[in-house]
Amino acid sequence: MIFDENELIGESDLKKIQLERLQSTVERVYENVSFYKKAFDKLGIKPKDIKSLEDLKNLPFTVKQDLRDNYPYKMFTVPMEQIVRIHASSGTTGSPTVCGYTRNDIKTWAKLMARVFASAGLNSNDIIQNAYGYGLFTGGLGAHYGAEELGAAVIPISGGNTKKQVQLLADFGATCLTCTPSFALYLYDVGSELGVDFEKLPLKVAALGAEPWSEGMRKEIEKKLHIDALNLYGLSEIIGPGVASECIEEKNGMHIYEDNFLCEIINPETGEQLPYGFKGELVITTLTKEAFPLIRYRTHDITTLYPRIKCSCGRSFSKMESIMGRSDDMLIIRGVNVFPGQIEDIITKYNFLSGHYQLIINRERNLDTLTVEVEISDDFAKSLSSIIIPTHPNSASLSHKKVDSLKNKIKKDIKDLIGVTTDVKLYMPKILPRFEGKAKRVVDKRLI
Ligand code: AMP
Ligand code: ZN
Repeated sequence: MIFDENELIGESDLKKIQLERLQSTVERVYENVSFYKKAFDKLGIKPKDIKSLEDLKNLPFTVKQDLRDNYPYKMFTVPMEQIVRIHASSGTTGSPTVCGYTRNDIKTWAKLMARVFASAGLNSNDIIQNAYGYGLFTGGLGAHYGAEELGAAVIPISGGNTKKQVQLLADFGATCLTCTPSFALYLYDVGSELGVDFEKLPLKVAALGAEPWSEGMRKEIEKKLHIDALNLYGLSEIIGPGVASECIEEKNGMHIYEDNFLCEIINPETGEQLPYGFKGELVITTLTKEAFPLIRYRTHDITTLYPRIKCSCGRSFSKMESIMGRSDDMLIIRGVNVFPGQIEDIITKYNFLSGHYQLIINRERNLDTLTVEVEISDDFAKSLSSIIIPTHPNSASLSHKKVDSLKNKIKKDIKDLIGVTTDVKLYMPKILPRFEGKAKRVVDKRLI
């Protein structure tokens, strides 16, 4: 489903509006934001030097610290009387950053999120249960306005309240659930405990994002909830959710809404632009934001971009791969770079494991240790209980000949893929913590 005609824009028209919008954004930030004036002057660049899209690479980067240095409002290009909404990033990696919106920004964002839901195959007949948190976090209100813009009925349940969520899924008959992927799985756990048969629910699709998730996790969510699970991406600094999303027709990479955002991939170490097909750090320039435009914002998200080709959904916007991690999430274990997503890929491959896991990093006698804690699946737990669980070993990790050989298998897989020796601990289902918003997969005790 296409939400608006601009999604079908041809190459030359796209390039033309991108350039016009880039030029006007550059002019506005230079005139109104002293941080940008200084950054441009330092490089000897004037707005009129931007003559083509290739000139983008000459512009300065913006990093999160710049936003913190200009806390709270100094990055805004408009006076406060034009600001109608303020959000802040969740601050998973430090103090929050502040994002302002004009009335037009809110409209632009609603349209983008309407595109996201349309790309998931939804229209005005649908009912969207919005389990993203409402508040300073952009997920809740972003999805809310997008659902209304599409004309769908939105259930503004927000995060948490899991039992009630399950009841409403059944009673109000949502056809779409939107939340973090980890919360979707949690909802399933709680629902099945309450005896809900997900196959019988009207739910058909989930639009999930705000945290990294693997193909394995997608399959697990789809199988358990009997739905299609689609990825959507965004970040507060850029607008919130609505930067890119997967189409239900192909479910393979997220279309970037390129009439609103210019995306580049850079080598995070050198800052050099990389061609399509190369993995690196995603850098985004906003093209339509009024209150809080950003030039070459370094997202720290690691992904790959692919060139425009006509997709079976009709869009030709270029695609970006799922984000498997952030450059600042990258763990360095005994000198080896490890992304939590690589381990999740291995874990979700096994039927005898559930998708719930945590990575615990410690330092023993100056050596880093990585412990992978993971829950076994319900079915496997049932098959075990008669042999090895005389009393419920809820707090201890499982150990038994059969379980130990599986642990070794996982250990070997991780060693083969990333070259790090790990300790694997298996737990009965529902032992590890659950999350209502973004999952916290890594506990780095070296920092504590
Ligand atoms: P926030 O601004 O607090 O919403 O956080 C934005 C960050 O969440 C992004 O920079 C990504 O690291 C992460 N994120 C959002 N959507 C996704 C997604 N679909 N896949 C992976 N990570 C995501
Ligand atoms: Zn498509």
